Amino acid sequence: PYTDFDRSYFRAYSDIAIHKEMIQDRVRTETYLAAIMKYRHLIFDKVVLDVGCGTGILAIFCAAAGAKRVYAVDASEIAELARHVVEDNNLSDRVTVLFGRVEDVSINEKVDIIISEWMGYMLLHENMLPSIIFSRDKWLKPGGLILPSHASLFMAPVTYADRYHERIGFWRDVHGIKMSAMLQLAKHSSHREPHIEIIPRENVVTRPILVKDVDCYTVTIQELESVTTRFCVTSTLRAPLHGFAFWFDAAFGGPAVYPSEQHLQLPLMGPVDKISRVLCHKKQEMGSDEEIMLSTAPGKPPTHWKQTMLYLYDPMTLNKGQKIAGCVTVSQSKENRRFLDIRLEFSVGGRTRVKVAEMR
Ligand code: SAH
Repeated sequence: PYTDFDRSYFRAYSDIAIHKEMIQDRVRTETYLAAIMKYRHLIFDKVVLDVGCGTGILAIFCAAAGAKRVYAVDASEIAELARHVVEDNNLSDRVTVLFGRVEDVSINEKVDIIISEWMGYMLLHENMLPSIIFSRDKWLKPGGLILPSHASLFMAPVTYADRYHERIGFWRDVHGIKMSAMLQLAKHSSHREPHIEIIPRENVVTRPILVKDVDCYTVTIQELESVTTRFCVTSTLRAPLHGFAFWFDAAFGGPAVYPSEQHLQLPLMGPVDKISRVLCHKKQEMGSDEEIMLSTAPGKPPTHWKQTMLYLYDPMTLNKGQKIAGCVTVSQSKENRRFLDIRLEFSVGGRTRVKVAEMR
């Protein structure tokens, strides 16, 4: 069923700023480009489905790489403009823009490749992956390619005194008036929801914890409803623990059965000399066997996803070598399945804390 939640979700994607932000995220967009180039011999003359095409950018890349037909689907009004973009680039004979949810549109053939940029904050926010699973089960040919093929959600304890105090420190001294009485309330309102911000690599105090590994060829809709992982990690620093950061990687591996790259001189298609040049340039930058990975980890070149940081209400002291053990659950909110509930229970030196948050 098409709910009010869907309506407001797709309305959010009719905003131009969000598409500009995504396209300008060079790490994101160029990693997709690199993947399209790497698998060009599998895309050439094949049928592609772009789930959530937005402005049409990935669909047009695939057409430029020689796809015979690309179905570009989006339920946001942006699809109407994507159709114009396709026309303006003389690609209407090969890119078909369909306005509607991928769950509702009709496509009368199987596809060789599914491409989608479905990842939300801390991977699972927006809950778009079920639409890729739906498309895979309905249209992907056996042995077909899914881009990206895998994704992993990570978490790690973080020390970040500057940011922690920045948000609440204001209340310590207001025109010389002690307003510390406000601190508890300030912490609760500022640290109830996660913050999207860059966490410097040196603020991460343990190795990363793998919270969820997704294989896009086999993942089920049901297993995404709630994800639980136990962990036990060791602090490499003596520092106050201010919270936990979440981030993800997405990998662009080949299909299960992967024909080795044929070194054909495949013509690049299209209007589209310029795109072709960008594509070729991307290809030359890359070694042919290099694994293609979009990482949003601390210390990696920043993306528009940054990291997702969940602050504790009160810091805890960590010693070097101290164990942080516990359990984290990330689940779809009952209220709106595109939102996330996070429950984090952990102990440090015999003291146990529970932190719950909702990401709206
Ligand atoms: N592919 C574009 C846009 C990615 S953003 C790019 O890379 O720039 C994700 C897009 O998916 C949004 O435009 C959103 O409206 C669309 N989307 C999400 N779920 C969808 C669904 N079930 N059916 C159709 N479109 C969907």
